[in-house]
Amino acid sequence: ETPLLEVKNLKKYYEISRGLFKPKLIVKAVDDVSFSIKKGETFALVGESGCGKSTTGKTILRLTDATSGEVRYKGEDLMSLPYEKMRSLRREIQMVFQDPYASLNPKMTVKEILLEPLRVHKKYSAEERLQKIIKILEIVGLSEAHLDRYPNEFSGGQRQRIGIARAVILNPDFIVADEPVSALDVSVQSQVINLMLELQKEFGLTYLFISHDLSVVEHMTDRVAVMYLGKIVELADTEELFENPKHPYTQALISAVPVSHPKEVKERIVLTGDVPNPANPPSGCTFHTRCPFAMEKCKSVAPALTEVAEGHVTSCHLYINNEEETTNALIHS
Ligand code: SF4
Ligand code: MG
Repeated sequence: ETPLLEVKNLKKYYEISRGLFKPKLIVKAVDDVSFSIKKGETFALVGESGCGKSTTGKTILRLTDATSGEVRYKGEDLMSLPYEKMRSLRREIQMVFQDPYASLNPKMTVKEILLEPLRVHKKYSAEERLQKIIKILEIVGLSEAHLDRYPNEFSGGQRQRIGIARAVILNPDFIVADEPVSALDVSVQSQVINLMLELQKEFGLTYLFISHDLSVVEHMTDRVAVMYLGKIVELADTEELFENPKHPYTQALISAVPVSHPKEVKERIVLTGDVPNPANPPSGCTFHTRCPFAMEKCKSVAPALTEVAEGHVTSCHLYINNEEETTNALIHS
């Protein structure tokens, strides 16, 4: 079965200038990222801010151009799709943003906000459009009474409901949600998450869920990819990842979640130091400057993603058999 979305060797590099006479620095914001998402699945990208998860989402939506790599949606290569065709795909692929305050035009009423996506589709009459808007408002827990109100008359949670209504009104298949609840109060977060899960069931939606918050990810996603400095360092089913985190970075992130009790993390791993400057990442395993298990070779050799269990991969020397030893053993046997 073809995955709904397939991302292969995606790279997004950009240059930063340090002044006229200094060489430019290259930031590898997304560095050779590959994953695929099945229809109906909720796939999470997690990591600290600046790890490349939002940039990955934006590149998939072509809100920014990739440096190289492939993004296939229902088998079609999005990167080389002519702009016109990409526009028609915009109906199927929608985005929910982190900040419901910034993503809704304050000068537009709820009705105007929800009319906008419908405008592209000329087949609806004015009355049909209005009915569609009222129906979607009810689905997201608002009502006809809100039609002529402005975003600033709503709470944060209600605004995110409007943002979600705007994303689902054209009946999309795929939604990229970038930190959709992190600007909301904890009590409101679960309401919005439950709404997203209900909509998923009702409309058969597939989500790419971008978040730094592992407790949210544990509750609502099927699979998780953990990113560090532009790379995926671990990818597994959500349950497996939380029960058997392999990468020391994942273990540290999970041990910081108060309610989780992963079997393999016996002690709490506390991350020391900040995320290194992405314009000047450490050599070898880029996590070695913060890793409590770092070995000599971690400083010089970058570990490749390796399968540690079915559907569970991680990039860490702790799980890679020493190739030299294996080769020697073969020679001497
Ligand atoms: Fe730590 Fe080495 Fe594994 Fe990197 S490769 S996570 S430094 S043990
Ligand atoms: Mg971000």
